[in-house]
Amino acid sequence: MNVYVNRTLNLKRINYIGFDMDHTLVRYHTKEFERVAHQLMLEKLVKTKDYPEAILNLPFEFDRAIRGLVIDKTHGNVLKLSRHGAIRLSYHGLNPIDYKLQKKIYKSTYVDLSSPNYDTVDTNFSIAFASLYSQLVELKDSTEYQSLPDYYQIAQDLISVLDEAHRDDSLKSIVRNNIEKYIIKDEDTVRGLERFKKHGKKLFLLTNADYFYTKTLLDYAINPFLKEHKSWEDLFIFVITFAQKPRFFYDNLRFLKINPKDGSMTNISTPISPGIYQGGSASAFTNDLNLDPSEILYIGDHIYGDIVRLKKDCAWRTALVVEELEHEIESAIKTKPIAEKIQKLMEQKIPLEIKVDQLISEQIEKNAKNKEAVEKTLQKISQLDAEIRPLIKEQDKAYNPYWGEIMRTGIEESFFAYQIERYACIYMSKISDFLNVSPRTYFRAFYRKLPHEP
Ligand SMILES: [Mg+2]
Repeated sequence: MNVYVNRTLNLKRINYIGFDMDHTLVRYHTKEFERVAHQLMLEKLVKTKDYPEAILNLPFEFDRAIRGLVIDKTHGNVLKLSRHGAIRLSYHGLNPIDYKLQKKIYKSTYVDLSSPNYDTVDTNFSIAFASLYSQLVELKDSTEYQSLPDYYQIAQDLISVLDEAHRDDSLKSIVRNNIEKYIIKDEDTVRGLERFKKHGKKLFLLTNADYFYTKTLLDYAINPFLKEHKSWEDLFIFVITFAQKPRFFYDNLRFLKINPKDGSMTNISTPISPGIYQGGSASAFTNDLNLDPSEILYIGDHIYGDIVRLKKDCAWRTALVVEELEHEIESAIKTKPIAEKIQKLMEQKIPLEIKVDQLISEQIEKNAKNKEAVEKTLQKISQLDAEIRPLIKEQDKAYNPYWGEIMRTGIEESFFAYQIERYACIYMSKISDFLNVSPRTYFRAFYRKLPHEP
């Protein structure tokens, strides 16, 4: 697998490389983990939010949501947007909303994501949240469950129970007790980390997880493969836990020094020196170490918290891990024959469309009697459309049965793809793809043709 380049990045100029932990340095068996999140959310809704016990039977449907989707909490809808923020596909509960109704609900087709009425699926930690939201909206619409809270409140309740599941020990203890079921071990990652370090790169960890959870995961995923280091703690010059990203990138929170022996914390009044910390900020990190922001590369998987927000506030370079890429690329290869069929049909359709326009122009300009010919041609066009439509559906299904591709909506790029292109200097499917390249790589951006360029 590859590293994909949006903006030229010379690794020889990068001296510090920061890693997010969850879904970046440490990969999860995402489906299994989200299945547990789904179950815990249901239990907590019943226990603490008075939801009916019947919801405990809702099955976990991983495919119901993909990254980049937008949740409209007011209307109970889930939306897929184009790169321009226009709605290209939408569901209410478990059913697609037809185009006319969608137009009626969203008079302006552009969505203002800064409004608190919307939420986005920014990380794979939100898949269970989005899929359960659709299920609960569906339930709320049935006569039996009208007493469920309104759509907005359902979303708020879900956010609150998911937060709680991450904060209290419920999710973490399940992972700890059955770690091989949820966490992927990847020797290539460890080999790469040691090699990058040999090249003089200063590696650091920057995660929102707490120190003890971080230790559990890294003891399991990294330590067994180390050859030149005793423990993962020796790999990273700084370990920053509980970082409160994205706040870390724009605020000025203090660093607290952690004693790894007992997890106790102390205030520091001097600039930071190598060690284990909690909290802090990107500006203090950059200033204390007297770094130029452009010599720091940060790698994460949260499109907003790790990448978009970082780019808006500090000049570190960015890399995004997009776990779904592997499946997207496989699907693209698998559906190539379908894409070719569609292309062939389009090659027949476009000249017919031109012909219709010509015939109508002749009617207007020369009073030609083309009515019959126009109708005949239109008929041919709709026959071709009837052949094209199921092919497009089949193509979409190979990606995700409900939402199609993550990176595209039809021929346009998706909003998620736009965010990646705009804010991530480079991106890849998994961290070992990056760590497998030479630490002296010059990632060169493609020459992209603009629509007018010959
Ligand atoms: Mg993460």
